[in-house]
Amino acid sequence: MRRPIVAGNWKMHGTRSENARLIEEIASRYPADPAAECIVCPPFVYLHDVSRLLRDTAILLGAQDVCADTQGAFTGEISAAMLKDVGCQYVIVGHSERRLLYRESDQLVARKFAAAHAKALVPILCVGEQLADRETGRTREVIARQLDAVLELCGPQTLASAVIAYEPVWAIGTGRNATPDQAQEVHAFIRTRIAAQDATIAAVTRILYGGSVKAGNAAELFAMPDVDGGLIGGASLKADEFLAILAAAGSR
Ligand code: PEP
Repeated sequence: MRRPIVAGNWKMHGTRSENARLIEEIASRYPADPAAECIVCPPFVYLHDVSRLLRDTAILLGAQDVCADTQGAFTGEISAAMLKDVGCQYVIVGHSERRLLYRESDQLVARKFAAAHAKALVPILCVGEQLADRETGRTREVIARQLDAVLELCGPQTLASAVIAYEPVWAIGTGRNATPDQAQEVHAFIRTRIAAQDATIAAVTRILYGGSVKAGNAAELFAMPDVDGGLIGGASLKADEFLAILAAAGSR
């Protein structure tokens, strides 16, 4: 019922020629009618280029961030309309690197979610606890706070055209992934929290796991009932790894 998604977050990596090579390698081995949806999220400056490279493929385009405001004097920012204009269908909001390095608050992330939604871009809302939160038993409290900011500003219905990514901060880029049971526990908590407001929407909302997903651990993570695919950082830059993760999601 929930088609799995594998989204590659390229972060601040790549060049025009490296991107072209990566897309060519992935697209040539990615089926035209795939079981799992595939999204790539390059840096802003490469979106237009990559959008052209993805023509005639089943791979979809996403951005890594969006401005909460629609237009005007916001130097350096990129609006949701601009992302649509260059072919994006998805946008990551609230990635932990934005929350931590650029001090994005839950409220700002919720406004970004709303801005994306208003322009029919599908937000991929990242939530996740830091190691200290987990070690002090505050995981649910943190996830609830991050999720509730969006539910309060935008309402549960907006989740019908959104994706959630649970990304424990301690697992991102560290090589230390959450165990399948740890991921499932938080994914089920997220779904239950949405269900408290709208059970129908909770049942269809796709919740991805992110944090050191690799070819070698993807299948066991994706086998969990509430894990609907993955948001992939480092491994999305290696065609073989990324394709193996896509295959694991497709055979879920
Ligand atoms: C990410 O940055 O969203 C991520 C999951 O990174 P990695 O896969 O490298 O841990």
